[in-house]
Amino acid sequence: MLKAAGSAAALTILGGIPVGAAAAKKPAEAAMTLVPHKDRKKILVIGAHPDDPETSVGGTMCLLADAGHEVVSVYFTRGEAGIPGMGHAEAAAIRSREAEEACAVMGVRPLFMTQIDGSTEVNADRYREMRELLEQEKPDVVITHWPIDSHRDHAVCGILVLDAWRRLDRCFELYYFEVMTGTQSQMFYASDWVDITSTRDRKYKACYCHVSQDLKETMDDWHGPMERFRGLECRCEAAEAFLHHVEPVSLV
Ligand SMILES: [Zn+2]
Repeated sequence: MLKAAGSAAALTILGGIPVGAAAAKKPAEAAMTLVPHKDRKKILVIGAHPDDPETSVGGTMCLLADAGHEVVSVYFTRGEAGIPGMGHAEAAAIRSREAEEACAVMGVRPLFMTQIDGSTEVNADRYREMRELLEQEKPDVVITHWPIDSHRDHAVCGILVLDAWRRLDRCFELYYFEVMTGTQSQMFYASDWVDITSTRDRKYKACYCHVSQDLKETMDDWHGPMERFRGLECRCEAAEAFLHHVEPVSLV
């Protein structure tokens, strides 16, 4: 990822993966030059609800997919509680379909876990479930919720991934993304930035696949200003910001 200050020409790196060049006109093309197919990496973006990966990481996911990497959008829940007045099963079916449509726009693969929206759990079985998923998927990079978040499902998701990362001896690079910073993500600070100017329109197209969520206000009032602010920090029009978790010694 791009290291912001004064490095407008720096390559954007995500866990050692170039995902574009701030100075390049076509970031995905630049990334393809730098990442031959044999160096194809696997990136999991794990969000609590259908629309979290898209709204927070959508521009970066498009860049990575365009550069030839395998990108998986993991949905911790199917958004069962996310459509007022509708039962869980029906809402889950609608929101799963919307997520699949969004993934098709971004060129990534959807994967659904088994937690329930609004009732997510932290217990021994859920710790094991997350660890086993990551053991099975064998990602090079995981991007998930910053655990200090006012939405309980977001916090739970981040905590379970963090625990799995440690139990698996930190065998992948771990990054956190931000969601509606100031109202949901709290005390988030960025260590890495990705210039998403070239993929922002596609990101929004993916976000608006979530018709049931009516995301216009979320994008106009929250994620849009966040993208511009993060862009100001790294001298581009729009950016997504991440926090790279680094622990020099094993803690478990
Ligand atoms: Zn969410």
